[in-house]
Amino acid sequence: MEDLRQQAITYLPGIGPQRAKMLEAELGIKTWRDLLYTFPYKHIDRSRLYKIKELTTEMPFVQVLGQFLSFEEAGQGRKHRLTGHFWDGEMFLDVTWFHGISYIKKSVKLRQDYILFGRPGVYGGRLSVIHPDLDKPETMTLSKMSMQPYYSTTDRMKKAGMTSRTLEKFTSTLFSKLTWPLPETLPQYLIERLHLMPLDKALRAAHYPSTADELAAANMRLKFEELFFIQLVIMSYARKRQQERVGQRFTRVGEAFNTFYHKYLPFPLTEAQKRVIREMHADMKSGRQMNRLLQGDVGSGKTLVALMVMLIAIDNGCQTCIMAPTEILAEQHLQTFLGFLKDMPVRVELLTGNVKGKKRKAIEEGLLDGSIDILIGTHAVIEDNVQFNNLGLVIIDEQHRFGVAQRAKLQERPSPNHSLAGRGADTTKDGHYSSLCKGEAGRGSEEGSGVGPHVLVMTATPIPRTLAMTVYGDLDVSIIDELPPGRKPVRTIHIYDNQPEQLYRGVVREIEAGHQVYFVFPLVKESEKLDLKNVQDEFVHLKEIFPQYRISMVHGKMKPSEKDVEMQRFVSGETQILVATTVIEVGVNVPNASVMVIQNAERFGLAQLHQLRGRVGRGAEQSYCILVSNYKLSAETRKRLQIMTETNDGFEIAEADLKLRGPGDLEGTQQSGIAFNLKLANLGRDGQLVQLARDTATFVLDADPDLLAKDNTLLRRHLQELKKEHRDWSQIS
Ligand code: ADP
Ligand code: MG
Repeated sequence: MEDLRQQAITYLPGIGPQRAKMLEAELGIKTWRDLLYTFPYKHIDRSRLYKIKELTTEMPFVQVLGQFLSFEEAGQGRKHRLTGHFWDGEMFLDVTWFHGISYIKKSVKLRQDYILFGRPGVYGGRLSVIHPDLDKPETMTLSKMSMQPYYSTTDRMKKAGMTSRTLEKFTSTLFSKLTWPLPETLPQYLIERLHLMPLDKALRAAHYPSTADELAAANMRLKFEELFFIQLVIMSYARKRQQERVGQRFTRVGEAFNTFYHKYLPFPLTEAQKRVIREMHADMKSGRQMNRLLQGDVGSGKTLVALMVMLIAIDNGCQTCIMAPTEILAEQHLQTFLGFLKDMPVRVELLTGNVKGKKRKAIEEGLLDGSIDILIGTHAVIEDNVQFNNLGLVIIDEQHRFGVAQRAKLQERPSPNHSLAGRGADTTKDGHYSSLCKGEAGRGSEEGSGVGPHVLVMTATPIPRTLAMTVYGDLDVSIIDELPPGRKPVRTIHIYDNQPEQLYRGVVREIEAGHQVYFVFPLVKESEKLDLKNVQDEFVHLKEIFPQYRISMVHGKMKPSEKDVEMQRFVSGETQILVATTVIEVGVNVPNASVMVIQNAERFGLAQLHQLRGRVGRGAEQSYCILVSNYKLSAETRKRLQIMTETNDGFEIAEADLKLRGPGDLEGTQQSGIAFNLKLANLGRDGQLVQLARDTATFVLDADPDLLAKDNTLLRRHLQELKKEHRDWSQIS
C-alpha cells in the first residue's frame, strides 16, 4: 500500500505525460500521494434535490430534477440570450444562457430528465438560474450526489481545459484504485483517546464526504495530524537540547546586581519585571543553557530587565552583549545603560559599523582580555567577527528582525577562551567586578569543548500564542504583562489626508504645552529615491507650516553620524518635531514626545503601526497617535486602522493581524519555514487544535521520551523521516 502511494501520477488512468507535466508544474503533484493530499478548497452539498417552489434567491448552489419543455431566443448583441423553461412537475423555472447558445441548443434535449445545478437569482423580474451545470441523472454516481468537491486550479490549467471537474475525476479514479485501507499514521491509543477518524476514512472523506459533519471530522483529524507532528518534532528537539546543552552556572547574585538594585535603580520594578528576572535567573543557575524569549509590549521596560540579567552574568565573571537591530537603537541603549549604571565600575562599550581604527582596536582588545563587561552593538557587527574572552550571555533586542538560523548560530558559539575554569584573577583589574568571581561551568565543559552563552531574545512584537508555539516552540517564554505605573493609554485617531488643518492645530497645541511630535513615513522599498524625496518634501512642507519650530529629519540614506546628530537634537529637546522614515520604528525612547503622526498609515502593517505608536505614551502625559491615510482604502486596510483605534493591547493586535493576513506574512516568521507547509491547518484559525497538538505531544513524550514503546513505533518512524526531510528544523532549536 505504501508503495502504491509512491506511484508516479502517470500510472493513474487518464493522466498522460502532458497532464502529468501540468500537474507537477502548477500544483506540485508528482505521485498518487501528492494527489491524495491535494484537498478541495470547498464542497457543495449535492446530497439533496430541491423543488422549484422551495427556491429563494438567498440560496447557494442547489439542484433540481426536471425537464425542459421549450426554449426561446431573445435580445440582440450583448443581451442576446437563450431561455429554457424548466419544469419539475409542479412549477416552471427560467434557465438562461448568454454564451454557448448554439452548443446548448444542439446538446440539450427537450422532455428528458436533467439534474440542474446552479444558484437561484432574479432575471427580468423572474426567478431564474443562469448558466447552470446540467447532468443526466444516470451519470450522477453516488459520490457526485453528495458533497461535491471543488479543487483549485491555476489559469494555465484552466486554459488547457483542466478544471476542478477534471481533478475530481482524477481523485475519484485514484480512490477506486486504492481498494485497501491506507495505512494509519497515528497510534491506535491516540486515535481512541482523541476520538479521531482513522486516516483511511479521513482522506476519503476529505475529498468525498457524505455529510458536512463527516467532512468536519475528517478535516479535524488531518489538521490535527499536521500540527501534532510539527509539535512532536519541535518538542523532541527542545527536550534533547535541554538535556544536552550544558550552560554556565550563574549561581551568584553579587555585588554588581545588588549595588545597582539598592543604590541606582531609579524606580521600583513592576511585579512583572521582577517575575521575569527570577525566571531568567532560574534558567541561568540551572546548569543548562538559557534559551528564552522575553515578550513585553512596547514601553513595558525590557531594557531594564536586560540590564539586570546582564549584571547577574557579570557577577559570575562573564561578559555580556546586547544586540540591537539598528545603530540608533544601539546608541540609545548605550546612553540608557550609562545613565542607569552611573559611576558603577562596569565597562560598557558600543560597537557598530561606525566604530573604526584605534577605537575599534581598543574594544576588540577589551573584549579579548575580558575587561569589557557589556558590549552593545548592532546584530550585523556582533554576530560574525567579534571575539570575547568569556561571553556568558547574549541578549537580542527586537527579535522579529533576527533570523532563526542566526539565533542557532549564536547559541552554538563558544568563547574563544574555552576553559572557563582557567579564567581567574589574572585577567582582571582592580575594582572590576570580574575579579570577584567566575562562572562555574556545567559538566559539559570538561573536555574543553566550550559552553555556549545563555541566550535571551526580546521582542515587543507580540506573537500570537499559536504561532509562538509553532515558530518559537523550542523557546521558553517569559512575558511582561504589565506596564510601569502612571502610563495613560495612547489615544489613537484615524483621519484622512485631505483635512490636515485640525491635525496641525493639535500639533501646535501639544508643542506649546512643551511636548514633541513625530511625523513618520513609510519606507518606499521599491524606490529609495522616492523614499528620500518623501521625507525631504515633508521636511520642507512642515517647515512652511510650522516656521516657529525647529525640525529634525532622519532617514535611511543619512550617514550614521548625521543621523545621530539629528536624533540627539530631538532627544535633547532642541528640536520639537522629528520627521523620519521607519528607522525609528523600534525602541527609540523620548518620553517627552506625545504625538505620533503616521502618514500613509494604510501602507503599514499592524505590527509596525503598533511599534510606532509605542514611541509615544512613555511619559505621564496623555499621548496621541494620528493615523493619516488616503481616502480610498480596501476593506482589510480599513479594518486594520480600525483595530488600531480600538485597542492598545499588543497581543490583541497580533491575533487580529494573524487572522487578517495569515501567518506567512507576519514579520520575522518567514525564515522559520515550518509553519507554512501546512496544507489544511491554519495557525490563525486553528488555535485550539495547535494547543491540543502540543498537549498531546507533551503527553506522548512525557510517557516515552525516545518513542521506544511498541505503541509509538509509527511515531518514531515518521519523526525520523520528518527530521530527514527538514534538516533545517534542527536549526530552530
Ligand atoms: P521596551 O520594553 O519597549 O523596550 P523600555 O525598556 O524602553 O521599554 O522602557 C520604557 C520606559 O519605561 C523607559 O523610559 C524606562 O526607563 C521606563 N521604565 C522601565 N521600567 C520602569 C518601572 N519599573 N517603573 C517606571 N518606569 C520604568
Ligand atoms: Mg526596547
